[in-house]
Amino acid sequence: MKIIDEVKNAASIAISGHIRPDGDCVGSVMGLYLYLKKELPGAEVDVFLEKPAEIFDCISHIEEIKSEINTDKMYDVFIVLDCADDRLGDARPLYEKAGKRINIDHHISNPGCGDVRIVEADRSSTAELLYDLMDADKIDREIATALYIGIIHDTGVLRYSNTSPRTLQVAAELIKYGFDFSDIIQKTFYEKTYVQTQIMGRAVLESVRFMNNRCIVSMVSRRMMDFYQVNPKDLEGIVNQLQVVKDVDCAIFMYETGTLEYKVSLRSNGSVDVASVAMKFGGGGHIRAAGCTMNGTYHDNINNLSKGIAEQLNIK
Ligand code: AMP
Ligand code: MN
Ligand code: MN
Repeated sequence: MKIIDEVKNAASIAISGHIRPDGDCVGSVMGLYLYLKKELPGAEVDVFLEKPAEIFDCISHIEEIKSEINTDKMYDVFIVLDCADDRLGDARPLYEKAGKRINIDHHISNPGCGDVRIVEADRSSTAELLYDLMDADKIDREIATALYIGIIHDTGVLRYSNTSPRTLQVAAELIKYGFDFSDIIQKTFYEKTYVQTQIMGRAVLESVRFMNNRCIVSMVSRRMMDFYQVNPKDLEGIVNQLQVVKDVDCAIFMYETGTLEYKVSLRSNGSVDVASVAMKFGGGGHIRAAGCTMNGTYHDNINNLSKGIAEQLNIK
């Protein structure tokens, strides 16, 4: 199946992804946007997303992302990428009204939404899946760059266990378009500002191990974010840093989003299915990487998450 067959008769198409967009979300949304604009020059194609982090400014036409939503507008097709409709955020009213709804995702926790549901949980990233839904000869350097960023970010630079032979084949095809992949990996994945490094250091310093040292947890409060003058986008990567601690099976990181409200990130080495833990609290994700939003005190949240984790680790 090719994506063009599902949208070729549409006069207007909207594309969106999840709130707090990560590299796969931004790369997928922009890759598909650039592709459809090129394939369907007569159609109106719009892209809606929360403002991405500045590191993604290397993606062409990223400034065309719209954050203002005219809820009266009706699109012929609405495409939801890298999530289900529940995490669309402000663009959701447009999705509800659209003539045809397409969902393309790779989250095991997503049963799919809309009229056309392409959810493949064995894909490393939505970007990898999108590559196979595009005609390779219609891809150009700018589209390839966006898709490559998606793959790189969701696989931790082709390192996590979600990297399959197909992931590497797609990455190989993409780098043939000649963008500076080394520079892109450095600037979008590894490089951190000084304050980002400082707050990561603080979170690591204050981390605590529990459950026979098989779990590790840390938290960043709003006061800490104010002190370092950072926002949630600057906290990317902290949970992965906690997960690399030797003998840790499961890492928990949370940051305060409001009064008694935390955004929780979970990572595991495979011995805990963190998607099922996150789903208990209304979130989701993958077996080794998942997230949710929780209400309650920091310690209550740790206790509640611990129940599901301890059961899986057979710890009483
Ligand atoms: P994060 O910890 O936010 O980096 O998310 C890890 C993985 O879980 C990513 O694939 C997210 O898209 C997914 N995820 C995070 N939060 C949620 C949520 N509330 N519902 C469904 N999936 C989520
Ligand atoms: Mn994502
Ligand atoms: Mn993804």
